[in-house]
Amino acid sequence: MSDKIFDAAIVGAGPTGAALAVALARLGLLVAVIDARDPEAKPRKDGRNFAIVTGSWHLLASIGVTEALGDVSQPLHGLEAIDGGTHWFGRPSVLFMETDLASPDPDETLGYMVTAEPLQAALDDAMACETSLQRFAPALFESVEMDAGHVRISLQDGQTLKARLLIGCDGMNSPVRNALGIPVEGRDYEKSVFTANVKLEKPHEGIARQLFTPDGPFATLPLKGDRANLAWYMKRGAAEALAAMPTKDAEAELNAQFSAFAGHMEIEGEAGSYPLILQLATEITGERTALVGDAARRVNPLAGQGLNQGFRDVAALIEVVEDTLRIGGEIGSALMLERYSQARKFDGASTALALDGIDRLFSNDSTLTKPFRSLGLFAASKFSPLRRMLARKASATEDGVPDRMQGW
Ligand SMILES: Cc1cc2nc3c(=O)[nH]c(=O)nc-3n(C[C@H](O)[C@H](O)[C@H](O)COP(=O)(O)OP(=O)(O)OC[C@H]3O[C@@H](n4cnc5c(N)ncnc54)[C@H](O)[C@@H]3O)c2cc1C
Repeated sequence: MSDKIFDAAIVGAGPTGAALAVALARLGLLVAVIDARDPEAKPRKDGRNFAIVTGSWHLLASIGVTEALGDVSQPLHGLEAIDGGTHWFGRPSVLFMETDLASPDPDETLGYMVTAEPLQAALDDAMACETSLQRFAPALFESVEMDAGHVRISLQDGQTLKARLLIGCDGMNSPVRNALGIPVEGRDYEKSVFTANVKLEKPHEGIARQLFTPDGPFATLPLKGDRANLAWYMKRGAAEALAAMPTKDAEAELNAQFSAFAGHMEIEGEAGSYPLILQLATEITGERTALVGDAARRVNPLAGQGLNQGFRDVAALIEVVEDTLRIGGEIGSALMLERYSQARKFDGASTALALDGIDRLFSNDSTLTKPFRSLGLFAASKFSPLRRMLARKASATEDGVPDRMQGW
């Protein structure tokens, strides 16, 4: 083992880990990034699309990766919701538009739809430019031991390294979280999300549309060129079966169910599915360790908040590190980690539970709840202060978000 001690060792260079690594290196920290992906290998096909809300976009702009994404991103101008289980108060309800942000910037949108591959490529390129960032990849984190003032990290290939702070950005099954013995709580919805990119017959005008059915939501998220990314919540097994069908059969099923809502849809590329799971780490910090993104919580993907919660973690951790450096404090200290935990543990869990509540409220056919949820949608669409509040919350531009998300 060399005597070098990294300021921060980040396990996982997915979207949260890579963004954090670049930001910390730019603050002058010596950063190690350990990732299972091989940077030299051709990127594997990834059909995922992320709704990157305004606050998250500001964070990415602060590390200079949004320029590379301009041509491949679709601005989000509004969100529309329909309660498909009732006819109360008419439909659809425009929940909010970008004008509800009341931003001083006339070009400010609610965010952008970004395809996973160019996002990861832009972040990988940004990491490659940082001279104080050392990548260990392909490499697998295996274990960690505490030492005086630092941690000792062992990789599966036998390499070891030391760091003052270990950050687990290593996804839902987080080996770092497991190594620290931090338990998780949550529930398996026993549902999965069917996803596909489709060509739409009607222009989407940059509006994300969500239809709530008693079985779960169906959403069309706008992509460039009157295309959309679909998310259809189905029973576990059904989404997987639909994704495995020949494209023409899956397309026929989709149109039979939803063409009245979305117009005719033509599937492009491969469809996919992923299990719907609510999972919260009971702690997001441990000795000299912080958890970020899916390692800290896996939320219901309703309203595209999953990765955005991860970017909030990133922005909060950067802020805490900046403050620590400003006062000459110690990277990885208990005080620094306590501040991160205070900023994100409660907020992250309450967002996860709020999304869970919305899913429960709308994914049923109860005659008791129908009038209340319709009234809620109606009020949200007609009452301007509520619209503004929802727009700012959903786009992560409300008061109190970390500085990096505020767009200065
Ligand atoms: C199939 C699927 C489809 C999805 N589709 C969407 C979607 O369309 N829209 C959306 O908003 N969200 C989607 N999500 C959720 C979204 O992908 C996550 O919220 C987001 O990727 C979380 O980012 P992250 O950086 O925290 O973790 P991840 O993206 O999971 O990245 C974790 C990183 O850790 C690395 N890693 C793991 N273990 C180790 C180890 N032992 N050593 C070193 N490195 C390790 C991995 O290689 C990876 O690079 C989907 C999730 C899945 C599983």
